[in-house]
Amino acid sequence: MHVVVIGSGISGLSTGAELLRGGHDVTVVSAEPISATTSFLAAAVWFPTAAGPADRVGAWSTETFSHLEAQAAARTPGVRMCESLALYRSEPPTPTWSRTVRAFRAAEADELPPGYSFGFRFTVPLVEMPVFLPHLHDEVAAAGARWVRRTVHRLEDVAELAPDVVVNCAGLRAGQLVDDQTVYPIRGQIVRVTNPGLSVSVRDEAHPLGRAYVHPRENDCILGGSLDSDQWDVTPNPTLAQSILDRCRDLAPQLADSRVIETLVGLRPGRSEVRLELDGSPASGTPVIHNYGHGGSGITIGYGCAREVATIVDSL
Ligand SMILES: Cc1cc2nc3c(=O)[nH]c(=O)nc-3n(C[C@H](O)[C@H](O)[C@H](O)COP(=O)(O)OP(=O)(O)OC[C@H]3O[C@@H](n4cnc5c(N)ncnc54)[C@H](O)[C@@H]3O)c2cc1C
Repeated sequence: MHVVVIGSGISGLSTGAELLRGGHDVTVVSAEPISATTSFLAAAVWFPTAAGPADRVGAWSTETFSHLEAQAAARTPGVRMCESLALYRSEPPTPTWSRTVRAFRAAEADELPPGYSFGFRFTVPLVEMPVFLPHLHDEVAAAGARWVRRTVHRLEDVAELAPDVVVNCAGLRAGQLVDDQTVYPIRGQIVRVTNPGLSVSVRDEAHPLGRAYVHPRENDCILGGSLDSDQWDVTPNPTLAQSILDRCRDLAPQLADSRVIETLVGLRPGRSEVRLELDGSPASGTPVIHNYGHGGSGITIGYGCAREVATIVDSL
């Protein structure tokens, strides 16, 4: 089949890669270069966040975990397994994701920063998107994909590319293509700082000042973050940036002398549930598969979603 994939973020590129692996022809149509996608700036650690429904996200995230773990073992550029610590002020119930992550255990008292009485240690994939996304792009290109840089205003506009199937992986803008009013932005602001030598990813989802996470990478640290629904403003907010720095220094006091490199804002594609389904009777007559609305979990579930799209295409 000739499949036109709209979007070259993690959803579009993962889907393109799986379709090519299955022997299909793929054309990727994207309005922006990969460096301008939400995916490129994502933190990006395996951790199910702001995406549903729970059962499908559970299955996609488990499949994606195994895939990324294998990529890390194969030394795929930008993918590695990272020691992690989730912090709490009182003992929480065991999280559902504990069954998927590796080496899950309660943290020892000497592993907790001041002010915290409980934590979980575990290992998850961490993906450096500015390294991994270009690698995935090159892999998809080497496997024979064609590329078209264009903004698609209606799904019917790609008819001239003569697709047998269209896959809608347009992220936050995917809803506009099909008049789905339930898609909304979930604004995320992060601060990129120099890495003082940290190697453990730390998070506190209930810090009094707001969500907080510290993700150490090869040459920097990503500090987050915010999860603000229905906010379209991509201008960095300096007050929020300072708050993120303050929260993250509670999690990792070693950050005290880190230098701020830049503050970034991205809009996650929010939806109450990921839309991954076949639209068998679209206006154009060409079957459309939707794969959008991944919220804060696009990297956590992207591969599992791509596998499901490939299965649907194979069944047509
Ligand atoms: C600050 C922040 C931190 C995050 N951290 C994590 C994390 O730790 N773990 C995790 O799993 N997720 C994380 N996320 C969420 C993750 O980034 C998203 O879920 C994911 O990037 C969505 O990918 P996507 O490919 O669906 O969309 P996008 O990356 O937005 O890509 C959409 C693509 O569609 C194209 N497009 C859109 N409209 C059109 C059109 N009309 N015509 C043609 N092309 C079009 C765009 O050009 C782009 O190529 C984070 C997000 C943010 C903002």
